[in-house]
Amino acid sequence: MELYPYLSYPPILLLLLLPALWPLLLLASGTSILLDQTETSNSSENGIFWSSTSEELPVNEEILRLANLPDAVKWIKDIRREIHEYPELAYEEFRTSSLIRRELDKMDVPYRWPLAGTGVVAFIGSGSPPFVALRADMDALPIQELVEWEHKSKVAGKMHACGHDAHVTMLLAAARILQQIRSSLQGTVVLIFQPAEELGTGARNMIKEGVLDNVEAIFGIHLAFHYPTGVVASKPGDFLAGCGHFRAKISGKGGHAAIPQSSIDPVLAASSAVISLQQLVSREADPLDSQVVSVSIINGGSAYNIIPDSVTIGGTFRAFRKKSFYALRQRVEEVITGQAAVHRCTAELDFFDEERPMIPPTVNDERIYERVRRVSVSIVGEKNSRRAQPVMGSEDYAFYMDRIPGTFIFLGSKNEKVEKPQPPHSPYFTIDEDALPVGAAIHAAFAYSYLMNPTATDSAN
Ligand SMILES: [Zn+2]
Ligand SMILES: [Zn+2]
Repeated sequence: MELYPYLSYPPILLLLLLPALWPLLLLASGTSILLDQTETSNSSENGIFWSSTSEELPVNEEILRLANLPDAVKWIKDIRREIHEYPELAYEEFRTSSLIRRELDKMDVPYRWPLAGTGVVAFIGSGSPPFVALRADMDALPIQELVEWEHKSKVAGKMHACGHDAHVTMLLAAARILQQIRSSLQGTVVLIFQPAEELGTGARNMIKEGVLDNVEAIFGIHLAFHYPTGVVASKPGDFLAGCGHFRAKISGKGGHAAIPQSSIDPVLAASSAVISLQQLVSREADPLDSQVVSVSIINGGSAYNIIPDSVTIGGTFRAFRKKSFYALRQRVEEVITGQAAVHRCTAELDFFDEERPMIPPTVNDERIYERVRRVSVSIVGEKNSRRAQPVMGSEDYAFYMDRIPGTFIFLGSKNEKVEKPQPPHSPYFTIDEDALPVGAAIHAAFAYSYLMNPTATDSAN
C-alpha cells in the first residue's frame, strides 16, 4: 500500500501546495488522491503551527484567509451586533430566523424552514452523502442587559447573555466560507440553526423534524468566557453533565399542629426525603464518578399552628456517565416515594419529561474529538489547544450526540477590555468579537475535513 503516493509524483505535490488550484485538482481527480494517512508539518509560517493531514493544509489556509478578510470581519461583527440588539426568547426567534434566511439567500444557500417553530437547516456541498452537521442555537435569556455599549439590547428584559448571538453568527460565517469552497466539498454540510437551547427542548424538537436524517457526525461550539480569545478547549469522552429536574408533591392530611395524631404530617416526610436525597451521592455513588443532587425548592404550610395537607419539594440532579445519570433519576424517585410512605404520606413525582426534559450527558466521541483537535490546531495553533476539565453544566446539544457521534468544544472569548469578565447568564456578560472569525474557520475546517475522509482514525495526532 502506498502511504504517500504524491511523494513519487512531484507535479501533484506542487499542485497540493497551491490553494487556488486545489478545487480544480479535486474535480479532475475525484477521490483518487485522498489519503488515509496523516502527515504533520511543523511549518510555522504566519505564526501558525500546522498539524493537519497533508490534503487539508492548503484548504485550511484558504478557510483562514476567507475568515480573516477585512470585509468578512466587518460583516461578522455587524451580524452579531444586529442579533445582539434584538434578542428573542425560546421559540420566539422569528426575527433571528428571518435574518439567518436573509443572509443564506444572499449567499444562494438552500435551506428548510420553519423547523420546530423558528429553526432553519441549510445545506452546502454536493447534495449527496456523506452528510456532516454543524450546529448553532438562537435563543436569548430573560435578562435585562446592564452593559452600556453602542449595541446594547434594544428589547427590555431580554439579552443574549449566553453568546448564542455569536453562535448563530459564526455558523452563518462558516456558511459563507463553505459556499466559497463548495466545489471541493466531498459531500454535504448540514447547518442547523435551532431554537430554545435554554429550555432544553430545541435540539430534541429539531431532531423530531428530521434534521439528523442521514447525518453521520455533528460538531458544535460554545463560547467560553473563562478562556482567552481563540483558545479551543474540550476533551474526549464525558464533557458536560446530564441534567434533570424533579418536583415532588408529598401529600398527607392537614390538621391542628397541636393535635399531630389527627394529622399525617407531610412536612416531616418532606424533611426526611431531603435528608435521604443527600445520601444518594455520598453513599451510593463512586466518589470518582461526579454527581450532584440538590433540593432547591421547598414549599408548604401557611400558619404556625396548621399542619398542611401537602408539601412540594424540587431540585436538580446531574451526572456525567449516562448509566449513573439514569440510575440517579430512579433513586430520586425511589427515595422520595419511600420516605413519603415511611411517614404514611404519598408522593407524586414529576420529571418534566415534556416541557423540561432530562438532558443527557454530553459525551464527545473520541474519534471525532481527535479530528476536531487536529483541525483546531491548524486554525489556532498547538499552544491554543487545551484539554478542558469536565463541566457540571449541561447543553441540549447532547440530544444530537445521543443519536450520532460528535464533539462539542469551548472557544475562548474572554473580553480583555473588561476588567472582570462576567460568566454567561449575567446581565454584565460580554464577549470578545475577535473570537467570531476563529469559530467560523473551525466550523468550516471541521466540515471540510470530515467530508474529505469520514472514516479517518486521526490516530497520528
Ligand atoms: Zn445559557
Ligand atoms: Zn448557551
